[in-house]
Amino acid sequence: ALTIGIVGLPNVGKSTMFNALTKNNVLAANYPFATIEPNVGVVPLPDPRLKVLAEIFGSAQIVPATVSFVDIAGIVKGASEGEGLGNKFLANIREADAICQVVRAFEDDDVHHVDGKVSPASDLETINTELILADLQTLEKALPRLDKEVKGKKTERAVLDAAQEAQRILEAGDTLSAKGFDTAPIRELGLLTGKPFIYVFNVDESQLTDEAFQASMQELVAPADAIFLNAQLESEVADLDEDEARELLGSVGINEPGLEQLAHKGFHTLGLQTYLTAGPKETRAWTIRKGATAPEAAGVIHTDFQKGFIKAEVISYDDLVALGSVAEARAHGKARMEGKDYVMADGDVVEFRFNV
Ligand code: GDP
Repeated sequence: ALTIGIVGLPNVGKSTMFNALTKNNVLAANYPFATIEPNVGVVPLPDPRLKVLAEIFGSAQIVPATVSFVDIAGIVKGASEGEGLGNKFLANIREADAICQVVRAFEDDDVHHVDGKVSPASDLETINTELILADLQTLEKALPRLDKEVKGKKTERAVLDAAQEAQRILEAGDTLSAKGFDTAPIRELGLLTGKPFIYVFNVDESQLTDEAFQASMQELVAPADAIFLNAQLESEVADLDEDEARELLGSVGINEPGLEQLAHKGFHTLGLQTYLTAGPKETRAWTIRKGATAPEAAGVIHTDFQKGFIKAEVISYDDLVALGSVAEARAHGKARMEGKDYVMADGDVVEFRFNV
């Protein structure tokens, strides 16, 4: 499943946000290193289309796509050298598909800041430096091994070249993702700064609608995406039912809860999309890469579906909703029979035909 690791300085609101995400009651305490063990929260990806389809098909249940968040211990200056919780936490994020960096922007004299002042720009710098140093350590260990393997013809030259190029970028003080570096040849190294990044600014209520402030923060992290949320507010929202939640958020000028934005941006950042299946048993969203073909999409349901793929009957969500039923969609020529080269589109409602 899709996993996003959460990093940031201590006391920036990581646990508060994670709790809100998962409605777990992980201890959110006002002291550094409160979050020690990594925790995984599986979060449904909100998708209003599912409810609509479930009504059309009379589905007994709805199964949304999910995003897993891994809650991670805070990073402090010197983390890559073993300060604070040291290097242990870094192992937990090597496995993540993307990294969500939480940055404190809210002011609150009751909440201690590890550096004594609230400064998003310098916090970003601190975290990036630690991640860069951690990657350099990984490379220093890996390079002699790769060199040997290339000489022994066990590894391709291109792998070593990529590792050396990564080292040059990091030594110049840049993250790999900021330089658009393609980590594919050295994926096994799990370099942290080569993963896609999403930045969450934990802001005051007043900053939630402050466009000038948000533009300046977005500029700091470009080309990555920035999200602005108030973790404390989100955690209150997490306890409410949906209507109450939207009303509370609406009262401070937000249309979409920050956590939904995060799940959606996570999908976007990772180049993912969903397609839909629907029937009396369930309406369900399935996660695929953008550009996935019909057989690949079938393979997400079951590998046998991919192997035995014959064709797919595809109706786009908008057509199906406009016409009200599969029978009407067929009658209007909106149900397409697609073969194995078909590239899936977001919101395709699909029924696969296959041999078993
Ligand atoms: P972590 O160390 O990054 O996991 O931070 P926590 O989630 O434990 O939060 C540290 C402290 O900041 C706790 O006392 C939270 O209640 C408080 N806090 C978290 N988010 C906000 C926020 O948006 N506004 C304010 N004022 N306090 C917050």
